[in-house]
Amino acid sequence: MANIFKNLISNAFKKTRENISTAIKSVFNSTSINLDDLEEILLKSDFGYEFTEQILDEIKKNKSINETNLIELLRNNLKDKLAFIHSNDKHLIVEKGRLLIIQIIGVNGSGKTTSIGKLANYYKNQGLKVLIASCDTFRAAANEQLSTWASKAEIRIIEDFSKDPAAVAFEAIKIAKEEKFDILFIDTAGRLHTNKNLMLELQKIDAISSKFMDNNSSKESWLIVDGNSGQNAITQFNEFSKYVKITGIVITKLDGTSKGGTVFQIAFKNNIPIRFLGVGEGLENISEFDIDDYVDSLLGK
Ligand code: GDP
Repeated sequence: MANIFKNLISNAFKKTRENISTAIKSVFNSTSINLDDLEEILLKSDFGYEFTEQILDEIKKNKSINETNLIELLRNNLKDKLAFIHSNDKHLIVEKGRLLIIQIIGVNGSGKTTSIGKLANYYKNQGLKVLIASCDTFRAAANEQLSTWASKAEIRIIEDFSKDPAAVAFEAIKIAKEEKFDILFIDTAGRLHTNKNLMLELQKIDAISSKFMDNNSSKESWLIVDGNSGQNAITQFNEFSKYVKITGIVITKLDGTSKGGTVFQIAFKNNIPIRFLGVGEGLENISEFDIDDYVDSLLGK
């Protein structure tokens, strides 16, 4: 991964890294090994109870544990588990000349609009032809906000307030195909996962995308989750999954977090690859997810 992204991630997880490092030192401070501080920090960093207990069990079983190999044990464990989740598709491959539709879903305020701006810009900078469809036709403000992001990134946007979301999606996919775009981001209305009507609307958009699928196109549905939403992220995943098949997760607002473990927990619980990490409000503040970089920035290297 390019250095710029490594630095973004490394800065984002500085707090978590410092906390883990202090906790690891305290394990060996007394004559006997004391794992209480480490347990507390892993839980506070949002690694989740299950994983924290698994890790502590392994440490307890290991008789020759010391400060150096404890970090390596943690490192290997985290990397192995994430590699398992990502084993089928380590990195999403976006091919030029082949349309990839990415439906962006999630609850209000999770960072959907901001992420679309950043993602569209990211792929455009890789030389891909990117289009955005604004399918949140319920809120004028959402539409405006997306337009602002699109113009910042100099990316074309399809919007039409007189139509329903599925009709805008239909129009945008047609344009994407006819004009040979490589990626189409479909912004969907931010919804509470408890709002059944909006969920059905989402399903309608998904059905339209499916209709357009052929040998020269594919689609993904990415759930955007706020990295600070803890257990809620798991609930959101479960609820949205009842309506669409989620194929990837983007975790936002990880800049300066002390809860860096949440990335791990969300991937582990849902068994779904993490695609990108959002680490700030600027257009460039997004990083493709890389297991090694993520784990190394949590533990230091
Ligand atoms: P939406 O309702 O899901 O479209 O969410 P928005 O994209 O409007 O984001 C909600 C708020 O979170 C805005 O104030 C964004 O600037 C902020 N935000 C989004 N992503 C990030 C991020 O990665 N880091 C930080 N610090 N703020 C973010």
